[in-house]
Amino acid sequence: MKWIKNNGRALVIISKQSPTWLISTSIYAILQGIFPLFGIYITAKIIDELVLFNNYEKIRFWVLVLILGTSLIQGMMQISKRVHNVSKEDLRLKLAQLLSNKTMNFDYSEFDQGERMNLYSQILQDENLSGWGLFQVMDYYESILFQWTKVVTALSMSYSLFTKKVSLESLQFINHKIFSIAFIFLLILFMGLSGFAVHNGLQFWLKAGDQGKLVNRKFRFLYKTLYDREKDMDLRIYDQSEHFSKIAKSNIVYMPDGLMGKYGKKQMGFALTVSPFFNGLALILTYIYVGTKAYGGAFEIGSLTQYVGALYTFYSGFAEALNRSSYMMANSEYLERIYRYLDWKNPMYRGSLTVEKRLDRKYEVEVKNLSFKYPGSEEYVLKNVNFKFRIGERLAIVGPNGSGKTTFIKLLCRLYDPTEGEILLNGIDIRKYDYREYMDLFSVVFQDFKLFAVPLKENIALDHPWEEERMVDVLEKVGFVERFSTMKNGFDTMIYKDLDDEGVDLSGGEAQKIALARALYQEKPFLILDEPTAALDPIAEYEIYRRLQEIISDRTAIFISHRLSSCRFSDRIAVFDNGEVSEVGHHEDLMERKGLYYDLWTAQAQYYNEEEKEKLL
Ligand code: ADP
Repeated sequence: MKWIKNNGRALVIISKQSPTWLISTSIYAILQGIFPLFGIYITAKIIDELVLFNNYEKIRFWVLVLILGTSLIQGMMQISKRVHNVSKEDLRLKLAQLLSNKTMNFDYSEFDQGERMNLYSQILQDENLSGWGLFQVMDYYESILFQWTKVVTALSMSYSLFTKKVSLESLQFINHKIFSIAFIFLLILFMGLSGFAVHNGLQFWLKAGDQGKLVNRKFRFLYKTLYDREKDMDLRIYDQSEHFSKIAKSNIVYMPDGLMGKYGKKQMGFALTVSPFFNGLALILTYIYVGTKAYGGAFEIGSLTQYVGALYTFYSGFAEALNRSSYMMANSEYLERIYRYLDWKNPMYRGSLTVEKRLDRKYEVEVKNLSFKYPGSEEYVLKNVNFKFRIGERLAIVGPNGSGKTTFIKLLCRLYDPTEGEILLNGIDIRKYDYREYMDLFSVVFQDFKLFAVPLKENIALDHPWEEERMVDVLEKVGFVERFSTMKNGFDTMIYKDLDDEGVDLSGGEAQKIALARALYQEKPFLILDEPTAALDPIAEYEIYRRLQEIISDRTAIFISHRLSSCRFSDRIAVFDNGEVSEVGHHEDLMERKGLYYDLWTAQAQYYNEEEKEKLL
């Protein structure tokens, strides 16, 4: 059965993440199940002996068993509960990390996939809104084992109820087998009906789940937008609060007057209410049957407590076990979504070749017949791009907006794979290299770089060792020293105020300098800068480009820039035009050709006066 298989896989996952949790929970659940019945059983024995009062030794024996047994079980329960509680939080964290690690390790191109995004949103929605998924298996494993232990123990304690005979003549008909069978049949029927009602009620969650798919995506979008400081200004200036609350209200599956509310008032509500009614019927039936047998002299008063107690435990346990099984069955579909996500294969080929670690950092990159369209798009963003550059060179990439410059960088860094053609590093297709090793060749400052709300030094060093001298050196190179000297806590200064009220806010230009410092600090052979100076003022920009040689040192640098002044510092310029590389060459060559580069350059130059031109262009 599929639900057993799915829940089984969940237990395998759980046991791999935390065997301690599985063992301690199993012990705790079993002891919990035995404990009350143990008490009932021994107490019944003591009462029976007290009623007869002819064997003092036996009474003493049972009292001793009660005291020792209770202490032993209680002690073991406390220990296993403690271990269970401590390991629970650890396991929860590990299970949450399972999904986030999977997400982090997806190919970048997978983030364009609506289907995968939908699946992820759906899983988060299942978890956050109604607790479905792997966490639920944790909770239900404990309670199902607990309930089944109760059921088995109770059954073994109730067995003699059916073998003991009534002696009172007028009630002897009850000794007939048919009554025992009818009693058991009715008990199981009531339990079955109770469980069935719960099972049916739960199906409505699944029904609503599909319609609610968008809800979580919307809420995530709203949450991200409303709490993003960068977007906050635009939201206020354009007064978007009304607009956004309309988006929030546009799908109300989980609101009181939404689909779930409707189900709750009708079929689902009915199904879940009717379940305890059948439990009540079972209890009444038990009292009638056991009471009649006791009245008829089948057993002593102590045994009456034992049977009622055991039978009550049996069917409440059985109903709960069925009820939990229903939840586990319903959860099976949610688990399947998680497995689909966990089993989702990364489409990009990941080779195993070692990237040659060249001390001289001499690599050669060749772009051959490269064409690319984004996943799910029909349009070519890059068309048959061909060029070569040697490492150690500084390559400037220029061209109008949307001409494919950033896309080319993404392909070079293997965030995407080419649709056609190839990129070769030292003559070998980059797909054949070990993915991580290849990625490690690059330091990139993307246009929409992000700094983290952590101390300055962590923003720059990331997980590389912290060396103060090197840190000062990169800050100097990017022109951040002056601002740095105003930071009270030096390298420990928190960036942004998210986690520390003393954190500093930064201007766009200052943030860009830190991003640049981070790229330099990593000391990778390739330095890629996508509009690295867009947020800087012209003087700061000039300073960066003036010192470019020093900044780059022996790295290979590729920079996309709209400020064509930067091209004069580069060895080679590739001009992108509508997905194609229309010109490649030096500044002087390209100016002579009077093509697109010339047009762009002269268009920009007209805004500067002679003195500025002298300095900036
Ligand atoms: P540039 O850096 O030259 O301004 P880009 O490489 O960013 O240009 O974009 C080139 C084209 O690719 C644009 O038309 C843009 O809309 C499209 N594009 C960029 N990113 C994506 C994406 N993730 N999915 C689909 N199209 C994209």
